[in-house]
Amino acid sequence: MVEIKLKKGKDKAVNQRHPWVFSGALDKIKGKPENGDVIRLLDANNDFLAYGYYNDQSRVAVRLLEWDENIGVDQAWYEQKIKTAIAGRAHLLADNDTTAARLIFSEADFLPGLIVDQYADFLSVQILSSGIEKAKDIIIAVLVELLQPKGIFDRSDATARTHEGITAENGLLWGEAPAEFIEVKENGIKYHINIAEGQKSGFYCDQRDNRKLLASYTKGKSVLDCFSYSGGFSLNAFAQGAAEVTSVDSSALAIETLKQNIAINKFDENKHIAIQSDVNKQLRQFNDEGKKFDVVVLDPPKYAPSRSALDRAARAYKDLNRRGLLLLESGGLLATFSCSGAVDIDTFKQIIAWAALDAGKEVQVIYQFCQPEDHPVRLSFPEGEYLKGLLVRVV
Ligand code: SAH
Repeated sequence: MVEIKLKKGKDKAVNQRHPWVFSGALDKIKGKPENGDVIRLLDANNDFLAYGYYNDQSRVAVRLLEWDENIGVDQAWYEQKIKTAIAGRAHLLADNDTTAARLIFSEADFLPGLIVDQYADFLSVQILSSGIEKAKDIIIAVLVELLQPKGIFDRSDATARTHEGITAENGLLWGEAPAEFIEVKENGIKYHINIAEGQKSGFYCDQRDNRKLLASYTKGKSVLDCFSYSGGFSLNAFAQGAAEVTSVDSSALAIETLKQNIAINKFDENKHIAIQSDVNKQLRQFNDEGKKFDVVVLDPPKYAPSRSALDRAARAYKDLNRRGLLLLESGGLLATFSCSGAVDIDTFKQIIAWAALDAGKEVQVIYQFCQPEDHPVRLSFPEGEYLKGLLVRVV
């Protein structure tokens, strides 16, 4: 096995079990590893540190897998990691009220670059590192053995792959192809998911708990669900007796799917308005018209893909939230989210404080949202924490 030696003093994060080694920390490579090969990582004294995937295309040159020298990264290793991850989610899927969950969440589950989402009888997989790509056949075999899905679909068409020098994939990996729309349930609510064409892996199951929690504030209320996608917040609000819901998204497929979802849950479509539009434009228009809502949801896509984009993203979040707050009166609620890992909760609070000041509103935070348990945060990998939100009441 190829051995890679670290520069002196570069082993601290590795010893703290952080799974990333940057290319600048590497000293010598003994042998010629191919991208995706498992290598032995050594410290400057040639002592063993960990096993990891090597990649010369990526800023993260080694993605660490295993810190115990006596445990090789073989089929049994993958089996054990996958089994543990699935077992951790079993109770979420136990009562058939919820049939969509993230089973494997990359570094958080010790499988850097592997994301597996279960959607009823199908699995939607993203392979985002060359190491996982090389182990693909083993991983598929283990998933099939443990879960017996109808089919496994590859949704790896993410930009992350290009950083690893592997090309985009989108297609059937195993078994039968899913129908154009398959049905899942989340907290008893039905959703159509288009696994092949939908966003991300088809659905945003990371908002499961937050949708349910927010819905408890929407009985008899008028709700504006911005960046609605297939309607997670809108549908939960209807389930809890919202008086009327307006959903805004720029994607035609999202709006189409949302309308199907209103129908399959037998919610009253006369109480629903779906608008295909840019959210900022729509918020401006509502403000010009003097329109008000009781509850406004803002769940935008990732504005800050990296730390370097933080300033610009902060301005975008501020403008968006200012516009959202302008549509609320005293007692109104804003549920506002950021899925940018680079924006931490304190920064986000600061941004919302600026937005409130600019909107001329006094606000109170009454709840902090986070990512759900099937998107765990490994404490040795804080970068895995990305979703945060605030429930804010206008005083
Ligand atoms: N709230 C959703 C998830 C939102 S994902 C849920 O609970 O499932 C972000 C959504 O924002 C996507 O559906 C995307 O189509 C939409 N989007 C991105 N930019 C937009 C814009 N400028 N205006 C309106 N929608 C936008």
